[in-house]
Amino acid sequence: MSKEETTGPQTYLAGAGRKAEWVNLPGGRGVVNPPVWRGSTILYEGVADLDAARPSENRTLFYGRKGTPTPWALADAITGLEPGAEGTVLYPSGVAALAGAILAVVKPGDHVLIPDSAYEPTGSFCFSYLQRMGVEAEAYDPTIDAASIEALFRDNSRLLILESPGSLTFEVQDIPGLAAAARKAGVATLLDNSWAASYFFKGIPAGCDMVMQAITKYIGGHSDVMMGSVTANSQWFHRLQNTAWTFGQCVSPDDAALALRGLRTMGLRLERADQSARKVAEFLANHPAIDRVIHPAFPDCPGHEFFKRDFTGASGLFAAVLKNGKRADTAHLCDDLRYFGIGFSWGGYESLILPTSPEQLRRLGSPEAPGPMLRLAIGLEDPEDLIADLTEGLARYEAAVSD
Ligand SMILES: *Cc1c(COP(=O)(O)O)cnc(C)c1O
Repeated sequence: MSKEETTGPQTYLAGAGRKAEWVNLPGGRGVVNPPVWRGSTILYEGVADLDAARPSENRTLFYGRKGTPTPWALADAITGLEPGAEGTVLYPSGVAALAGAILAVVKPGDHVLIPDSAYEPTGSFCFSYLQRMGVEAEAYDPTIDAASIEALFRDNSRLLILESPGSLTFEVQDIPGLAAAARKAGVATLLDNSWAASYFFKGIPAGCDMVMQAITKYIGGHSDVMMGSVTANSQWFHRLQNTAWTFGQCVSPDDAALALRGLRTMGLRLERADQSARKVAEFLANHPAIDRVIHPAFPDCPGHEFFKRDFTGASGLFAAVLKNGKRADTAHLCDDLRYFGIGFSWGGYESLILPTSPEQLRRLGSPEAPGPMLRLAIGLEDPEDLIADLTEGLARYEAAVSD
């Protein structure tokens, strides 16, 4: 277990995971970063050492799949972002992390609740794979209050999945309230905290059992790593880790080193993305071609009161709804932008724009939208340049759509 975040958040990120035994050679001198420990085979000192080794022991070299100091340093650093957590398990992608956490909890005959605004692959996993193994998944309205979620719990309810804000439509959930209701009912909770990156919101102190992150997004931060994590309290950590070991889940030490490098600057990047995204969102909200902006920090975002109460900031990802036109028309806006790429995996230093169709994913109905919906991921470019780029793009859009 690593020490928790007790300093300022940037100070924490600068020092996290840099354990003396991982950066120093015997004798004392060392390097700043935990080196990349590549290894499949671990060599033992002799038969007695081999026979004393216990495969289930955490943080001892045993076999490459069970980790080396590089992924351990990353896992410990992430654990410290969630005060009160017992430990973190790393997975080769965010989706693998979600699947790994869900499979650590459920058995055939169980019932799982999933927000209707969940990340699309989370829904696919629950409604296809879980269904096949005899676990019933049920979608719930992400804006549900704590009293109403209690009414959805059944005797066989085992897991409440949370994601706040939700994918594409950004509903902010009452995480402390929902987690408390679940705990009272003996239902485990799994929060997808990728948007806030355990930086602007921390799920374990809010009462969640397991907090998942797509490291691919803000921790990686440079659009060059796929990885996921689940950080858990003492009730769930060992079961989570054993499940991951059973499935053979592990990550490359090179990728772990890249993620650790990203983590050092994550706070600065997030603070900057927050400032810039609010400027761009404000510009869009006042633009005549835009029906509305959906940004958790804006008062009309569903669950804004929970954002104000629980979050210390917003990341760079939000949505905007156009007043007119169809999805195909968004090519006039998006295709010739200078600074926005068209792509899925947000959280990098570069800005992205994407037309989205949440109505195709929803089981319980989606928010009304007069025109196509866009998702914007604001990166580290100067916001004035991004706004100028969007100004031109929206002019192209208006000219084409009013024809
Ligand atoms: C991207 C994303 C994931 C999955 O992460 P991958 O590393 O791409 O598998 C999970 N949840 C949310 C909310 C995401 O945006």
